[in-house]
Amino acid sequence: MLSIKNLHVSIEGKDILKGINLDVKPGEVHAIMGPNGAGKSTLASVLAGRDLYNVTEGEVIFQGKDLLDMEPEDRAKEGIFLGFQYPIEIPGVSTVNFMKTAVNEHRKYKGLDPLSASDFLKLMREKKSLVEIDSKLTNRSVNEGFSGGEKKKNEIFQMAMLEPKLAVLDETDSGLDIDALRVVANGVNKLKTRDNATIVITHYQRLLDYIVPDVVHVLYNGRIVKTAGKELALELEEKGYDWIKEENGK
Ligand code: ADP
Ligand code: MG
Ligand code: MG
Repeated sequence: MLSIKNLHVSIEGKDILKGINLDVKPGEVHAIMGPNGAGKSTLASVLAGRDLYNVTEGEVIFQGKDLLDMEPEDRAKEGIFLGFQYPIEIPGVSTVNFMKTAVNEHRKYKGLDPLSASDFLKLMREKKSLVEIDSKLTNRSVNEGFSGGEKKKNEIFQMAMLEPKLAVLDETDSGLDIDALRVVANGVNKLKTRDNATIVITHYQRLLDYIVPDVVHVLYNGRIVKTAGKELALELEEKGYDWIKEENGK
């Protein structure tokens, strides 16, 4: 589904990612962990298509297509969901209307007719109950005045509605309380199918108490320096990141 080969990325002339290789298959959950400043968010941002970042080498193939060649909106319509895609507050636009537009734009891209009002409401109901989000939140303006946990809930709801093939969730290192982590974990677990995949990027081992990843990677200093099963996350919880730094010269 996703194949990243020898990806090098720089920001303002500084090398941040130094040859990332990653293969994600349908049905898999991958965790990317690593200390602060390792390049985790940079990787997510490059997949999202933020233009601040310079890809200097390598390729990213998503479902047979060159991802780096696609506009950010098209990446989403091809089936990639980026966790921080809609973190903004949009006063005056309810989540219901926002999602109606998003869902129908995705459908249009695939050559499908817009959903009828009743089918849309049915989809809303189904996904709302799946991710346990309250109508009180979906009736409000997108993220306006939401707490951190509510924003997370809304994000997972958006993910449920869009049914992406690949979700990349960058759980940025600060401000996520245990409730928000649970929301993300429940969402990932409930939305998992044999056909979709998730990359959860996290500094915290905690998140992986709730999500059981198939593969855990450690990103350090712009490189994936370790890949193993879920036991690697436990080892990191126990030992922290110092041994990774020592093994990799710093
Ligand atoms: P992580 O998410 O693993 O904590 P980041 O990807 O945010 O790491 O950052 C990796 C490195 O890239 C850090 O050294 C950071 O200072 C640098 N970096 C990230 N974004 C920018 C930016 N916009 N401008 C300059 N340097 C940046
Ligand atoms: Mg960071
Ligand atoms: Mg980060």
